[in-house]
Amino acid sequence: MSTLASLEERALAELRACTEEAALRAWKARYLEGEVEQAVKKISTLPPAERPAYGKQANELKKKLKAEYESALAAEKERALARSLASAPLDVTLPGRPARRGRLHISTQTLRSIYAIFADMGFQIYRSPEVEEDETNFSLLNMPEHHPARDMWDTFHTTTPGLLLRTHTSPGQIHVMRELCPQPIRVILPGMCYRYEAITTRSEIMFHQVEGLAIGQHVTMADLKGTLTAFARRMFGDQRKVRIRSSYFPFTEPSAEVDIHCLLCKGAGCRVCKHSGWTVILGCGMIHPNVLRAVKLDPGEYQGFAFGFGVERPALLRLGVDDMRLFFENDLRFLNQFPSLSGAAA
Ligand SMILES: [Zn+2]
Repeated sequence: MSTLASLEERALAELRACTEEAALRAWKARYLEGEVEQAVKKISTLPPAERPAYGKQANELKKKLKAEYESALAAEKERALARSLASAPLDVTLPGRPARRGRLHISTQTLRSIYAIFADMGFQIYRSPEVEEDETNFSLLNMPEHHPARDMWDTFHTTTPGLLLRTHTSPGQIHVMRELCPQPIRVILPGMCYRYEAITTRSEIMFHQVEGLAIGQHVTMADLKGTLTAFARRMFGDQRKVRIRSSYFPFTEPSAEVDIHCLLCKGAGCRVCKHSGWTVILGCGMIHPNVLRAVKLDPGEYQGFAFGFGVERPALLRLGVDDMRLFFENDLRFLNQFPSLSGAAA
């Protein structure tokens, strides 16, 4: 009994000495959850005759200390609030800090303009992976191992043999053909591509590309020409001079490239157009029969055209930017100059 009385005295004295919440909580752990709890448990070890009186007193002590603790904690919380209000007055009438709104990167804005133009011509957007197998990036696109055209597309390889970062969006053609053929296809395949090459004003190791693919039973070179001329005029202006000249790609036959009059120098010749007055905007062609056969289509029955172009190049031309590297340096002084491109479907 005398132990309980001295425990009470000690506990109350310490409780009154607590001047902050952390000390109160430590007190609770030491007494309410520690010594007082132990004292209550001691009942079972006493001779039966002593148990009722001791038990009553121990439980009363527990109840009393708990009530003292709760009122001390509430009082301390009041004091803490008063201290905080006195030390840093809050003026609720001050205007708030406006949240700064971000904006879309110009590559994204340009991509969206491109989507809008092709969507009007009935093309759907098809997403395909950035990490590809050697087979889909090269072999099935008519570039077997040791094909010299692979030299044009050196890339970054993963530590898993045969897995690489795609060098173009063309492997997406294989994926979409496998999924949809023999239904007619009209899709664009946008996304990031990678090349292992020197970084210059005209080229980067990563860039966005948009691939286009149309397959059906009566698709001709005239459809290709009409589609791409319409795209070039909507993207770069009605009066833009467009020319199509023959070229070579392993996965198309015949192959062509589309040039437009350089937007920077308007045909006079400058650094970006290599002083020719023309800028190539895309490569295209009729799908090579071997590519059609790779997805088990009969080239005698089905034809199609494909095209592909970099996104940063047209953005650069539209905006009059003369250095490709600015797109990925993420320098806000550059990015903040282009709040919203006209024609971008935000
Ligand atoms: Zn030029």
